[in-house]
Amino acid sequence: MKVLHVCSELFPLLKTGGLADVTGALPPVLSKLGCDSRVLLPGFPAFMKGIENLQLLIELPAKFGASKIQILSGTIPNTEIKAYVIDATGLFDRDGNPYSDSNNIPYADNYRRFALLGWVAARIAEGIDSEWLPEVVHGHDWHAGLAAAYIKASEIYNGKKLAGTILTVHNLAYQGVFPAHVFHELELPGYFFNVHGLEFFGQLSLLKAGLFFSDKLTTVSPTYAKEIQSNEQGCGLSGLLGSRAHDLVGILNGVDPEVWNPVSDKLLIANYSAKSIANKAKCKITLQEYTGLKVQSDFPLFTIVSRLTEQKGLHLVVEGIYEIIKRGGQVAILGSGEAEIEQAFVKIAAKHPDSVAVQLGYDEDHAHRLVAGADVILVPSRFEPCGLTQLYGMIYGTLPLVHKVGGLADTVNDVSLENLAEEKATGFVFNEFNIVEFNAAVRRAFALFSRKTEWKKTQKIAMLQDLTWDAAAKKYFELYQQVSN
Ligand code: ADP
Repeated sequence: MKVLHVCSELFPLLKTGGLADVTGALPPVLSKLGCDSRVLLPGFPAFMKGIENLQLLIELPAKFGASKIQILSGTIPNTEIKAYVIDATGLFDRDGNPYSDSNNIPYADNYRRFALLGWVAARIAEGIDSEWLPEVVHGHDWHAGLAAAYIKASEIYNGKKLAGTILTVHNLAYQGVFPAHVFHELELPGYFFNVHGLEFFGQLSLLKAGLFFSDKLTTVSPTYAKEIQSNEQGCGLSGLLGSRAHDLVGILNGVDPEVWNPVSDKLLIANYSAKSIANKAKCKITLQEYTGLKVQSDFPLFTIVSRLTEQKGLHLVVEGIYEIIKRGGQVAILGSGEAEIEQAFVKIAAKHPDSVAVQLGYDEDHAHRLVAGADVILVPSRFEPCGLTQLYGMIYGTLPLVHKVGGLADTVNDVSLENLAEEKATGFVFNEFNIVEFNAAVRRAFALFSRKTEWKKTQKIAMLQDLTWDAAAKKYFELYQQVSN
């Protein structure tokens, strides 16, 4: 089975969020199942530098504002996975964030940049690489939404099926919406600009193109797959998603044990496992020292590793943090995003340096130190397609405290008496998104922390959850078989 993944981020080369973790981890696991996966990437500087042994495959006619387009092929470092990289002069050769400029304004020509990504995917499905022809094209998020549209256009024009198509929605809130007047630049059949196509409330949506034209749709948890069919969480697409319910599957993300594993994580001062967890205490002390927090072990240390955006529900933490401080707890935060949330945490940390530490920015190493050194990881998201940090927390014996929504609802079991009795509890779950319920979950965390035996038992259960990618890879493989026939 040959599968082309089309995406704009890939760990460890370029990452702004969980998407990169998925596209980095999934192809190697799929190859263990006999699935020959390749990846198609825009030629961002990180990929031009990071993909190894890049060689020219073919030069294509200049279009979408690029003065020259070359398709290169190479290998993703430390894997045997091949990557195609689109070297498009003028489109992708910009430093920094892949989607926006240094003032955080999305690039005005993003529709052209990601049209090119989808257009090249269709050319690969047509056979521009004489040695490798995908049977399935698997797009990720709105950046790859047009791949299915270009493939459909080619199939209609040539009267011949090219490849099965799948789109995975990692976050429905990001849609790639552009003004209608740029549609003619996409070189798609005119009638594709239609409610049955990529028209979206008078504009055009790259995500909708993928949702409409792909053979199958997936998202990253079963609960989110249901939620996005509702008006509240459908982001204007619930009607389309509802009409495609029989083609929409929720497949939970996993954890890459090569990257997130307390037994072998080289970024930790000391390694530990579910069987022998004593060294986790050393990680906590080192973290307290590193962040300037008071070194103490009597109360829980909470952490946040997150984009600091409205989605992540951190206003609850800004409000509830005083309850944590009052009870002797500590909070160590790593993140970047909206200035208002950043500044709120910075202010609190300045007032309570023994109890609250904040590091603004993106720092993969510090993320590992926090996940290992803390006792509880806070993920109170308003909505959460899957969420990865609660999974990392569990694997590291750092119990997640989460809002019961999306993938958080699917992956964390509250420490209710029945869950404790049945040895199913893995964290603290609050149902309604409000401060009363959040604070109650915080109090449950303190209560459990004071009962050492039960805390340790819950940690162990969390650490022993099977969160690997194997189950997900099998489900994707089944879908590939369905769409490639
Ligand atoms: P999302 O994709 O919505 O940002 P996920 O929980 O799915 O949320 O994935 C977030 C990923 O980004 C995780 O791997 C997390 O560790 C990482 N991450 C988020 N913020 C930071 C940060 N400031 N520094 C380092 N890693 C971060």
